[in-house]
Amino acid sequence: MNAAILTIGDELLNGQTIDTNAAWLGRRLNDIGITVICKLSVGDQRSDIIAGLDSAFNQSSIVLVTGGLGPTHDDITKKVLAEYFNDELVFHQDTYDRILGYFEKRGRQVTEAHRAQCFMPQKARIITNKKGTAPGMWIQDDSRVLLSMPGVPSEMKGVMEDVGLVRLRDLNTDSHVTHYIIQTAGIGETMIAERISDIVNQLPPDIALAYLPGIASVKVRLTAKGQKADWLRSALVSYGSQITSRLGTKVFGVGETTLQETVGRLAQNRGLLIGTAESCTGGSIARALTSIAGSSAYFKGSIVAYANEVKMQLLKVPKDILNHHGAVSEETVRSMVQGAIPRLGVDTAIAVSGIAGPSGGSPQKPVGTIWIAVGDRQRIVTRRLQLAKDRQLNIDYTVVASLDLLRLFLEKAI
Ligand code: ATP
Repeated sequence: MNAAILTIGDELLNGQTIDTNAAWLGRRLNDIGITVICKLSVGDQRSDIIAGLDSAFNQSSIVLVTGGLGPTHDDITKKVLAEYFNDELVFHQDTYDRILGYFEKRGRQVTEAHRAQCFMPQKARIITNKKGTAPGMWIQDDSRVLLSMPGVPSEMKGVMEDVGLVRLRDLNTDSHVTHYIIQTAGIGETMIAERISDIVNQLPPDIALAYLPGIASVKVRLTAKGQKADWLRSALVSYGSQITSRLGTKVFGVGETTLQETVGRLAQNRGLLIGTAESCTGGSIARALTSIAGSSAYFKGSIVAYANEVKMQLLKVPKDILNHHGAVSEETVRSMVQGAIPRLGVDTAIAVSGIAGPSGGSPQKPVGTIWIAVGDRQRIVTRRLQLAKDRQLNIDYTVVASLDLLRLFLEKAI
């Protein structure tokens, strides 16, 4: 089964608002086995909306619409939908009562514009919006289904999660969908594709494979679609396990797990405390680690040692090392690990120092040169990265590469 998404709003076209609704809907529909075959955005004018509906229904008999339901004058979607479905607007008392209750609780006055908002196409099944005033609408005739939702992302998600997804899943009787996700780091998608090509060549037609590259990481996603749910699930697990074992230590998890969760689990299972000493990442590795609930069980803290004085004073990096090798060097990050372990009172530490850019490089150490060290009291391993000139991208990449180095160290894979 497939569907089309139509998002309405001038602000989506002039770039003031990024269309996050369409992205979210695409993901959630994909999860329930509905393929989105077209997404389009149109302005707030009647003619824009009619053209958008024509175009969307040309592609699919199921169209999801967001935006244009509020009480403001540019919100004319309901009128256009009534016209489009040869219907008329009728006053919906339940919605008005809900709005009265909603405003009473907040001590606010209901305006005439809110009353006007309660006129709905007669054929529509109204879906209560628990997060706002404009309800969702389900309009169905012999050949078409239209689900209209508010534009405000939290309200749209509420309407979808409360009712929309269940009703759409009920329509989709022809297929089941299951995913198997393999999370990798430290290997590019081309290399992955080469390593697993023989397994991919054997995949049956109802199992599809996708590479979803992120920063310094790639998700390999297997998707099974079809009617024999049990068979598909066991085939998926079998192919997924083959790919996982073929990719070996490049795999840090299966499912929606993150690298920082994997690192946390490994540290906790081994009873180890970890900490970070960060120069160019400015605490971003610590931030990633502490984004996980319960991280206080294994993460103790971070020293953000941006300036050389801080590297010397807090991490006891010898002045000689900084003078001879520079702040961005293997010797410096080794010394940062050695300093961080006793000062933070941890068993294992990550240290990074680099030139994040966009300026500040030299011929020997161009912008994007990053050194990472990971180690404990017995052993330290280091890596040099040569990245490009985009500061934020360099920081994000270094965070992932550092966490992955720590993961491999904790797994004793390096
Ligand atoms: P309102 O009651 O505010 O008029 P509405 O259902 O009519 O709600 P819009 O007026 O289209 O929705 O948009 C309301 C808010 O939601 C705006 O801040 C808008 O930027 C945001 N929004 C609308 N559509 C999208 C979208 N597709 N993706 C992300 N945000 C959106």
